[in-house]
Amino acid sequence: VTTLRDDVRRAIVRPVISEKSFQLVQAKLATMLAETTAMQLFCFRLAQLQEAGVMSGPMASLAKLHNVRKAKLVCSEARDILGGNGLLLEYHVGRHLTDLEIVDTYEGTDTIQSLIVGREMTGISAFT
Ligand SMILES: Cc1cc2nc3c(=O)[nH]c(=O)nc-3n(C[C@H](O)[C@H](O)[C@H](O)COP(=O)(O)OP(=O)(O)OC[C@H]3O[C@@H](n4cnc5c(N)ncnc54)[C@H](O)[C@@H]3O)c2cc1C
Repeated sequence: VTTLRDDVRRAIVRPVISEKSFQLVQAKLATMLAETTAMQLFCFRLAQLQEAGVMSGPMASLAKLHNVRKAKLVCSEARDILGGNGLLLEYHVGRHLTDLEIVDTYEGTDTIQSLIVGREMTGISAFT
């Protein structure tokens, strides 16, 4: 978490704050950090459960569903903050956004992860 915060501060926060100190940008940055920390905690907990030998498929589905959705949200906000530059390859954000669209599909689409979690919660399979 510390390393990530340092990286975010170096890469995004300082330039954005020095060039345009907007309240709404800072609010977006706070949301992005909160969501990123939540994603890390999902992974940390999943690793703990795996080490304890009790991690299940639906738990992994829940983590992937949550983290991919949030990663797309965070990346989309980052692209928005950079304005037109966010679409240029040299700023990398657009590339990350495209990569995340792929992650949304491979190793289980968002829909299928949802159906796996729903089946675990209700005991009823809504898909074949
Ligand atoms: C970059 C990349 C790398 C990949 N690497 C691998 C790999 O290494 N190994 C591998 O095996 N596969 C790999 N895949 C394939 C990937 O796992 C599949 O593309 C993914 O599982 C979706 O399957 P599909 O493309 O057949 O789409 P479909 O299953 O046809 O899905 C199309 C849409 O229908 C929805 N859908 C499907 N079934 C249902 C249902 N029962 N109820 C409701 N909605 C449903 C899906 O959520 C999706 O929105 C890769 C894909 C990509 C893009």
